[in-house]
Amino acid sequence: MELNETLGLINDRVRALRRYHLEPVETSVKLNQNENPFDWPPEIKHEICARLEARPWNRYPDFIPETLLTALGRYLNVPAENICVGNGSNEMLLVLLLALMRPDAPVITCQPTFTVYRLLINGLGGFELPVSLTSALAFDEPALMAALASHPQALLLLCSPNNPTGSALDETAVRRLLAAHRGFCILDQAYVEFGGFNAVELIKEYPNLIVTRTFSKAFAAAGLRIGYMIGNPAVMQTIGTIKLPYNINFMSDLVARTLLDKTDIIKRRVALIIAQREALLAELARLPLDAVYPSAANFICVRTAKKDALFDFLKQKSILVRDVSAYPQLFGCLRISVGAPAENRLLVNAVAEFFGPGN
Ligand SMILES: *Cc1c(COP(=O)(O)O)cnc(C)c1O
Repeated sequence: MELNETLGLINDRVRALRRYHLEPVETSVKLNQNENPFDWPPEIKHEICARLEARPWNRYPDFIPETLLTALGRYLNVPAENICVGNGSNEMLLVLLLALMRPDAPVITCQPTFTVYRLLINGLGGFELPVSLTSALAFDEPALMAALASHPQALLLLCSPNNPTGSALDETAVRRLLAAHRGFCILDQAYVEFGGFNAVELIKEYPNLIVTRTFSKAFAAAGLRIGYMIGNPAVMQTIGTIKLPYNINFMSDLVARTLLDKTDIIKRRVALIIAQREALLAELARLPLDAVYPSAANFICVRTAKKDALFDFLKQKSILVRDVSAYPQLFGCLRISVGAPAENRLLVNAVAEFFGPGN
């Protein structure tokens, strides 16, 4: 069989997708992926590695990672039965879309938002109803309400704080949306440790709400691929039937449990990142950018007519930020992750230098 004929057999939906892809780039100041700039201390890594060596690798992990679920439950202040863990929150999202998408109802998203949503929705044969953010890149609650009213069984998929804009929904807005909606709502809170409200509290009242979270951002473990979702126990149990067995390997499980014992380190570092974000917002606002958008996350979205030149200038100085200008409504925008204090200083100085003396 010819290769072209073979490729033609791949599902049309999948062939139509645009790849989600990021070129690996050598850079000394890496502010393009919203990672936590602080790696875990070597003592903690050694402790984890010693425990990994002691564990037999030929045996499957636990079918249900009870110890991890209990530790997470303690951290979140919810019973373990409300939680399901997986290989990054993106796996949870895949499982949720598999279980919750309906052929007769759209997935309502806000635009611009995380591009993985569209990739998975389209790849799985669903259809999306995008609702634009306002011109200030805030959530447009009346427009969302109107979309829900005309599609009562839609799956509402929200990201708050939203990537790549940093905008956040407040609790009263989420309550109004949930009260008006007859379908499920997935709320991606990958950045919640940096701002916005804790939606986990609402799950007792709203069985149609599912919150997804991750160890990739505040917990500084993007390389380990650990995410989880929180929802009504009966809902979690039913949806969990479509997830792969043993989706969380014992290394990720062990790392997650160990890190949950070290939340004091995380709290200190998250507080530092939040303080750095506030300082960065203030300093960037003094420079002649066209807009610096408010952010509840560990990144800041800025707009400038000189986007390409600024991106290249920063890159020359080995500072890598994310060009998000191809997203709807984000013409001329760059997304800058909050780094360590010295990195943020380099960034601000470089942006100031780019705009020239007296700015
Ligand atoms: C980074 C990010 C995640 C994290 O995904 P993982 O699979 O847990 O690494 C989830 N949602 C959004 C919006 C993100 O930006």
